[in-house]
Amino acid sequence: MATNRTFTMIKPDAVGNGYTGKIIDDILAAGFTIKAMKYIHLTKAQAEGFYAVHSERSFFGELVDFMCSGPIVAAILEKENAVEDFRKLIGATNPANAEEGTIRKKYAKSIEANAVHGSDSDENAEIEGNYYFSAIERF
Ligand code: ATP
Ligand code: MG
Repeated sequence: MATNRTFTMIKPDAVGNGYTGKIIDDILAAGFTIKAMKYIHLTKAQAEGFYAVHSERSFFGELVDFMCSGPIVAAILEKENAVEDFRKLIGATNPANAEEGTIRKKYAKSIEANAVHGSDSDENAEIEGNYYFSAIERF
């Protein structure tokens, strides 16, 4: 069942490069509403927990280290068809393959340091939002 929420993180590369404001502007301009947002520096255990689904992948260690390398901004976003529309807005995982005008094309440098995360399904959007925000924060 389609829901109207997705979950995002502005990753350490984009926060460190000063793109937080520009990325939030792009998200709002695309019609998303912010339902919850926090600025946080993940511990290794917290990043491992978030990316547990990728624990068997070859790049898991690098991914976790990267996500702990500086602060991030995590948010729950609302819009009709949120998951699919947000993944269109951010573009392909590898910014080299991302379409012109997408967030990863504009602000990302590599497949690892790719500026933003976007949930890949309604189910994962809910799981991921619940990982970062308590019930009252994501009301
Ligand atoms: P995200 O989940 O961050 O929105 P995605 O869904 O496009 O990205 P996934 O396959 O879920 O991509 O991979 C999660 C993250 O792991 C990617 O965003 C990227 O930072 C990193 N990653 C994916 N593939 C590779 C790879 N081949 N080498 C290094 N890092 C990778
Ligand atoms: Mg993913």
